[in-house]
Amino acid sequence: MSNNPATVSATQDMDEFNPFLSMAQLFNEAADLLNLDEGMREVLRRPERELTVSLPIVMDDGSTKVFTGYRVQHNFLRGPCKGGIRFAPDVNLDEIRALSAWMTWKCSVVDIPFGGGKGGVICDPRELSKRELEQITRRYTTGIMDILGPDRDVPAPDMNTDEQTMAWIMDTYSMHVRRTTTAVVTGKPISLGGSRGRREATGRGVMLNCREAMKKIGRRPENTRVIVQGSGNVGGIGALLLYREGYKITSISDMYGAIINENGLDMPQVLEYLRTNKRLEGYTEADHIPNLDQIFQDCDVLVPAATENQITSHNAHRIQAKLIVEGANGPTTAKAQTILDEREITVVPDILANAGGVTVSYFEWVQDRMGYFWTEEMVNTRLEQAIVKAFNDVNSKADEYQVSLRTAAYILAIERVATVYKMRGIFG
Ligand code: NAD
Repeated sequence: MSNNPATVSATQDMDEFNPFLSMAQLFNEAADLLNLDEGMREVLRRPERELTVSLPIVMDDGSTKVFTGYRVQHNFLRGPCKGGIRFAPDVNLDEIRALSAWMTWKCSVVDIPFGGGKGGVICDPRELSKRELEQITRRYTTGIMDILGPDRDVPAPDMNTDEQTMAWIMDTYSMHVRRTTTAVVTGKPISLGGSRGRREATGRGVMLNCREAMKKIGRRPENTRVIVQGSGNVGGIGALLLYREGYKITSISDMYGAIINENGLDMPQVLEYLRTNKRLEGYTEADHIPNLDQIFQDCDVLVPAATENQITSHNAHRIQAKLIVEGANGPTTAKAQTILDEREITVVPDILANAGGVTVSYFEWVQDRMGYFWTEEMVNTRLEQAIVKAFNDVNSKADEYQVSLRTAAYILAIERVATVYKMRGIFG
C-alpha cells in the first residue's frame, strides 16, 4: 500500500485527504466537547464571505487569458481577516475555505485580534513571466479591493507568493485609496514596512513549541534526535534554531530526497550547501534516502514542515517519534491523529506549532499602524511570550478535557470565538 496520498488508489478513502472534511471533523469533535448548540456551530462552520473574481490578463505573447481568483473570509468577529494568498494550478474553493477556517482557529489560539481568511489564484507560476505574475497580482488585488484593507482583511504570502507579491498588493491598494497603506498586507520587505524577525518567525515558533512540549514529556534537548521534513522557510530555519538549542538533527529533506546522519547534521553547513546548490542532492556529510522513507526513521522528535497529508491512517503506525511538532499546515490527517493518540505520541498541532508566523504578522500590522518599528530582540521576546502562553493555554485545556493537544487547541479556539459571538449578539 502506498504511503503517499498522491499515489493512493481510487478505492482508498480520499475523504481523508480533503482539508475541508478534515477540518470539519476536528471542529465537530471540539464542538461536541464544548456542548456548542447547533445554531452556533452553523455560524462558526460557514465562511462569512466568499468572493470569486475573473482576472483578464494580457500575456507576453499578446493573447488574453482569464484567470480565476478567490478570497474567502471565514470569520471576522475578533478582528480583520488574516491569511495568505497562494498561486497554484490546483487551487480550489474547498481548499481555500478550509484554510481560511484554519486561520480563524490559529489566530484565536495565539489570541491575536484577527479572524481567518485565505485567497488564491488558479495559475502555474512556473509558466508565467514576472510581468504576467505582477499583472495577475495587481488585477486580483483590484478584484478583491472592496473587501480588503487594514481593518477588513490583511493578506500575507503563502504557496508561490512572496515579499515581492506583497509589495505589489500594497502598491495596488495604496494607488486605489490614494495613500500609502503598508498595513494592508504582512510579510512585506523590511524596507516597505515589513517586520524584523518575520522571516524566522514560523521556525522560531516551532522551536519554542518544541521546547515547551519537551518539558511536558520530561525530556531535554541534549541527545534528542530530530527529523525535519522540508528545508524551506519553516523546516530550514526551524532545524537551525533547534540545532542551536542543542538538539541533534539527524535528518532533513527537500522535495527531491532526504539526508540522514545518526551522529547529527551540521545544520549551518547543510543550509549553506542548500543556499549554494538549491537542493540537498550531492551533500557528502550524510547518507541519502528517499523521501518516502524519511519520516519513519528512528528518532525522538519529528517536525513535518513541508506539506499536507504526510502522516495518514495508512502510515501512522510506522512513526517512531515520541513527539511530533507540526511546522506545516495539515501534515497529519484526522484519522492518523486517532492512531497517534492510541500510540500515546504527543502532537503539537499546526494551529499552535506554526502560529509564530501569523503572530509576527500581527506585530508587523501593529508596527505599520504605529509607524514605529521594533528591534528584532523586541519582536523575538514578544513572540516567545505569545507562544509560551498559547502552549500553556492549550495544555491546560488538554488536562481539563483529557484530550490531545490538537483537540484542546480547537476547544480553546472555538470557545474564544463563540464567547465573542455571544457577547456581540446577532446583528440584524
Ligand atoms: P517553502 O516553500 O519555503 O519550503 C517547503 C520545503 O518543503 C522545501 O524544502 C521543499 O523542497 C520541501 N518539500 C516539498 N514537498 C516535499 C515532500 N513531499 N517531501 C519532503 N520535502 C518536501 O515553504 P514553507 O514556507 O517552509 O512552508 C512549509 C509548510 O509550512 C506549508 O505547509 C506552509 O503552509 C506551512 N506554513 C508556513 C508558514 C510560513 O511562515 N512560511 C507559516 C505557517 C505555516
